[in-house]
Amino acid sequence: MPLTLYVDGPRWRTHLQAVRDAHPGIVPVVKGNGYGFGVERLAARAAWLGVDTVAVGMYHEVTPVAAAFHGTVMVLSPWRPFETHVVFDSHVVHTVGRLEDLRALAERAAGSGAKPRVVLERLTSMRRHGFSARDLREAAGLVEGLAVEGVAVHLPISQGSHLTEVNRLMTDVVAAGLATHRVFVSHLTDTELGVLRQSYPDYEFRPRIGTQLWLGDRSALEVRSTVLDVHPVERGDVYGYRSRTAPAAGTILVVSGGTAHGIGLEAPTGGATLKDRAARIAKGGLDAAGFVRSPYTVDGKQRLFAEPPHMQASMLFLSHGAKVPAVGDEVDVRVRFTATTFDQTIISD
Ligand SMILES: *Cc1c(COP(=O)(O)O)cnc(C)c1O
Repeated sequence: MPLTLYVDGPRWRTHLQAVRDAHPGIVPVVKGNGYGFGVERLAARAAWLGVDTVAVGMYHEVTPVAAAFHGTVMVLSPWRPFETHVVFDSHVVHTVGRLEDLRALAERAAGSGAKPRVVLERLTSMRRHGFSARDLREAAGLVEGLAVEGVAVHLPISQGSHLTEVNRLMTDVVAAGLATHRVFVSHLTDTELGVLRQSYPDYEFRPRIGTQLWLGDRSALEVRSTVLDVHPVERGDVYGYRSRTAPAAGTILVVSGGTAHGIGLEAPTGGATLKDRAARIAKGGLDAAGFVRSPYTVDGKQRLFAEPPHMQASMLFLSHGAKVPAVGDEVDVRVRFTATTFDQTIISD
């Protein structure tokens, strides 16, 4: 009795092709929970799209992805000497962002006869991983025994333009004097990418894209939860783990989806300023009883959690007068796809 992701297959696939066609050199990002779809499914879709490279987040994702996708698999998190799941294989591209790691990787490769493929990451204003400008120049002299496939820059998801920053970073990349003229970029807008390609015509820019690709057409995606049980209550009736009492007559609705699915992990209330809250308490609304808004919509309204979500189900409070669904009916639920585990995914042909 599941939490289900329904995908309008034709619409989704048309969107995927459109994003691919609009982004030459696209590297689909396939990581984590696979944006709600699972990494294996996305890997197979990437193969269907005909791209030559995908990016995974971590080394343990390489094997499941490589089972469905036979091209190059770039690992976004940086290689470290202490990493235990490293896959040294000719289809894997490692990300390196520290001089000591570059030396260690080259040393490790020296004995093996293989030439590990790497991208050199330049630190951005994100300050997550990567070389400083000076270290990138030094790195250029330490790559013997490694196949450098490009430079990587991971930008913040900012409101303003990245162009000033990217131009500065590109100056560093040019100054490093690497043999490669390929740059893998993350989170540039199409306009920014266009400007960059014009400014650096002898460089190849390859965008690494996840959300915009897999989740870019929300109208192709619907999430529904199954009604598991329905309990009419009177004011004062006791329910739930915490033996709360119903603040009014209504219905306790038990629906699929709980913390194990990633339901209810977001900040639950909007506009909960003290003044708002005071106003709601004055009106005697249900949230005045401490109820928190849920992501479930029933009978056209977003409903309140009757208590915090359980591990695999949630209890909602439906006030008197609302149309009560039957056991087995489905209700809409809003989720954060990158944090949700669905019980099943149904993609139409
Ligand atoms: C996750 C990730 C991406 C993809 O991010 P989206 O916002 O999903 O497109 C790109 N680059 C790096 C380095 C990432 O970690």
